Amino acid sequence: MSEKLNQLKEILGVVSDLNHAGSVLSWDQQVNMPPGGGEARGQQLATLGKISHEKSTSDEVGKLLDELKKEFTGSDSDESAMIRVAARNYDKATRVPAEFVAEQSIVTTAAFEAWVEAKGKSDFSIFRPHLEKVVGLVQKYISFFPPADHPYDILLDDYEPGMKTAEVQEIFGSLRPKQVELIKQISSAKQVKDDFLHKKYNEKKVWDFSEIIIGRFGYDFSRGRQDKAAHPFETSFSVDDVRITNRFEPENPLATFFSGMHESGHAMYEQGVNPAYERTPLAGGVSSAVHESQSRMWENLVGRSLPFCEQFLPELKKTFPSQLEDISAKSFYKAINKVEPSLIRVNADEATYNLHIMLRLELEIEMIAGRVAIKDLPEIWNAKMRETLGITPPDDAHGILQDVHWSYGLFGYFPTYALGNLVSTQLWEKINKDIKDLDEQIRKGKFDSLLGWLREKIHIHGHKYDPQDLVQRVTGSKIDSAAYVRYLTKKYSEIYGL
Ligand code: MG
Repeated sequence: MSEKLNQLKEILGVVSDLNHAGSVLSWDQQVNMPPGGGEARGQQLATLGKISHEKSTSDEVGKLLDELKKEFTGSDSDESAMIRVAARNYDKATRVPAEFVAEQSIVTTAAFEAWVEAKGKSDFSIFRPHLEKVVGLVQKYISFFPPADHPYDILLDDYEPGMKTAEVQEIFGSLRPKQVELIKQISSAKQVKDDFLHKKYNEKKVWDFSEIIIGRFGYDFSRGRQDKAAHPFETSFSVDDVRITNRFEPENPLATFFSGMHESGHAMYEQGVNPAYERTPLAGGVSSAVHESQSRMWENLVGRSLPFCEQFLPELKKTFPSQLEDISAKSFYKAINKVEPSLIRVNADEATYNLHIMLRLELEIEMIAGRVAIKDLPEIWNAKMRETLGITPPDDAHGILQDVHWSYGLFGYFPTYALGNLVSTQLWEKINKDIKDLDEQIRKGKFDSLLGWLREKIHIHGHKYDPQDLVQRVTGSKIDSAAYVRYLTKKYSEIYGL
């Protein structure tokens, strides 16, 4: 193997260690850290980020990449893919000054703390000055790059390499009227009963049951753990340490199951990447949309399917006999798939979810263009909720403050959630061709051939193939909405008798 390749791998290995150490600190910030630790933690993260940035943008890395690009082009080898991904990361990182990275880290750490407080008190004015700073930084970030077809392309590319805003708008543009029409049909159909989902459920029993489910799916607890946090998320420090968080909402107790399934879907992806890619740019899931396709698959295509309810309800009834007395698998299935325009994105049903995303995409584009004043956001948000879903948030916590993303400066991320939904159904159609008795397996609580399929086709490859190429390789087409529309129409026609 080339001596230069070894030198590059050595440096990028150190960068990977620094970044993962930063992830441990961020995880701790959200899971364990007392509120007083915020300022010091911001400093620590900034320092790690600065060192990592300096190392990954050094002239030495640039020189090595230039030489290695000549040696490893065009082949399908791991080395060639690694050089391609490393060169793209290098090109991006060298455009962004180290001081900017440090400033961003300090600003977003403070913004996160403010967001927690603002959401707790349901008061946007606490978060507002922080969000103004964050948006300013996002605009500055865009200015470091050559002009794109759309300024938002630069943000999107960080989460979905190669994807263009125009492509997303086209996909959303064709999807939106179909979803709106479906919701209209559903709203005039006979409604389903779901009162038993909102009875009192014991928190510890729900939590433990969520771990039984995801353990059975294949989430490896010897290389992972589930902790409590304000917002469910997945984070990985290596292929052998992939963690998730979850929460318990008394008014929506069974949401813990679905958040657990969702985050474990992300985590199983990370646990399944080729271990040979550790400490290289090929480690980890390839893009946010492909990642989200994995989480949404386990949450919705498996967890909200009738075969799964048939498998899982009898056991659930043993744990919660009084809450679920006389409930059949069919009525449980209908209840967990009830369609109802609702305020909170993460709890939205599959028919309305993508509309929450479209709203956020519109707002982000307006914010980075400076076409909206941050102080007006709560009102604009509420107006858009009325226009999109016909409901008005009663307060900021259930409106503009519900998501953590903007406090982190994650602009360009939201669209990938909806794209992930689309990819999950594109993959699902293919999986059902390859595994003919998948429903029967799920009904028996067997998930190993499904996970094996995902491991082989998606997980193992890490970053080796670009996301659109990976989807094309596996399904035969790029990301589009046709499979999702087929899936929604079939599912809800049965549930609501449309
Ligand atoms: Mg997710």
